Amino acid sequence: MGNIFEKIVNGEMPADIVHQDDRVTAFRDIQPKAPTHILIVPNKVIPTVDDIDEADESLIGHMFIVARDLARREGIAEDGYRLVVNCREHGGQEVYHLHVHLLGGRPLGAMLP
Ligand code: IMP
Repeated sequence: MGNIFEKIVNGEMPADIVHQDDRVTAFRDIQPKAPTHILIVPNKVIPTVDDIDEADESLIGHMFIVARDLARREGIAEDGYRLVVNCREHGGQEVYHLHVHLLGGRPLGAMLP
């Protein structure tokens, strides 16, 4: 089976991939909420933030380094951007494969609802 993002990581589903290495994959969100909307996901399945293990510390750090580099490459670093991670139902998580949203390219307003 596998979730949608696992299939994208493994090349079993098409996606606009903007970065891939041995630990993470980044691709454009199919329903972008901002001019730049990229999802950074670990190649291995970690369903939610709550499932992160201490051994994943370096992997999680790498996801943020990739997000930083993509923001620079997209030309949104100087004006600023937002990184979002949703966790489970109340957090609004739809896909149960950990992902960081990279959003930018316009003023995003206040963060909290
Ligand atoms: P969540 O609500 O934090 O789980 O975010 C899931 C995100 O995945 C949403 O912004 C969706 O638009 C996005 N998404 C769902 N399916 C696909 C896909 O097949 N390709 C790219 N993005 C997707």
